Amino acid sequence: MSTSLDSGPLPQAPATALRQRLAELRGPSTAPHPLDARALAALAANPGCRRRALLDGAGVDKAALARALGSPAVFGQSQFAFMRGNAFEARVKAEGGAALLGLLGVAEPQAALVPDLAAAGPEGRAARTALALREATGAGAWTLLDHPMLALEVAGSPAYLEPDAVVVHPDGRWTVVEIKSFPMVDGSADPSKVGAAARQAAVYVLALERVAAVTKGASVDHSVLLVCPKDFSNLPTASAVDVRKQLSVTRRQLARLTRVEDIASALPDGVSFDMESRSSGELASAVESVPSTYAPECLSACELAFHCRERARSAGAVEALGRAVRGELGGLSAVAEVLSAARGGSGDPADPAVAALRRAARLRAEALGAEAPDAAVRGPGCR
Ligand code: SF4
Repeated sequence: MSTSLDSGPLPQAPATALRQRLAELRGPSTAPHPLDARALAALAANPGCRRRALLDGAGVDKAALARALGSPAVFGQSQFAFMRGNAFEARVKAEGGAALLGLLGVAEPQAALVPDLAAAGPEGRAARTALALREATGAGAWTLLDHPMLALEVAGSPAYLEPDAVVVHPDGRWTVVEIKSFPMVDGSADPSKVGAAARQAAVYVLALERVAAVTKGASVDHSVLLVCPKDFSNLPTASAVDVRKQLSVTRRQLARLTRVEDIASALPDGVSFDMESRSSGELASAVESVPSTYAPECLSACELAFHCRERARSAGAVEALGRAVRGELGGLSAVAEVLSAARGGSGDPADPAVAALRRAARLRAEALGAEAPDAAVRGPGCR
């Protein structure tokens, strides 16, 4: 098997024809937009979206595309949150990572090795990290890798990923460490933030597994160490987070990215996301030609969220109401259909979703002191 970046075996690169097709879609003169851990983790947040899979696979800059469509993404931390996060991370890693290693139960953290990972460029840093991991595993000593660089090839392009830290145990285990500035109160933190951190950490685990595969005696922990401030203080506390589920979703998604050929071949002729040569209207049509599955979760995970939300709303798609509501509505796929079913204008009364909607409509009418939307929706006990 081929290796790349001296950091483990690579997934099979896409065929030249696919590479060319993706370059055509992106715009022949546009370099592919690199994927980072956040982008890869977001794939796991909405695994069913073909639009995102194709755009990421083709290396389209989705933030620039959203701007060209007139719906720019609003992402990122505030300057204050950014500085607070940096200060907390510096505190956790001070004195050779004594506090961090203490959270892992290391009795003598000052004896741990902290190799220098400096090298030129991301490729050089990834190679340096791979070497440091091998040396640390061979040495059988606690080792802290501060901001290592990992590489993962995605749909033919290398993505460079930089976890906060990786700790090598004396028995050859490697543990990913994620340091976040949201608080852990009484041992638990905001589940949505923990979920996002777990998805991101799973991408790092995946990249580390490639290096571990070619390192004798190494294994990668499927539990990552999440370090957060304790109870609104500045003191660090930690929790082990099992990322096996996120790992399998991310693996599936990455495998799918390498099969973007199927999605690309279903596109009408002439579709292009080339922002140099296409008008905003042409880009909007190109985006619309790829099926999407908008969900409110996209707002925190995908640069095209405002565009897709607006389209989903104007099409009256029930997906815009969220996955949970979508699931409850069964076969009803449009908001107009839902309202009609609730008013008794359509729908099979034996359908549990229709029955629940009519019951809700009756209750609402009663609460408002109004007539039920339609006499036909009244059940036998309704007055
Ligand atoms: S915002 Fe649009 S493209 Fe992005 S994941 Fe959601 S539906 Fe897909």
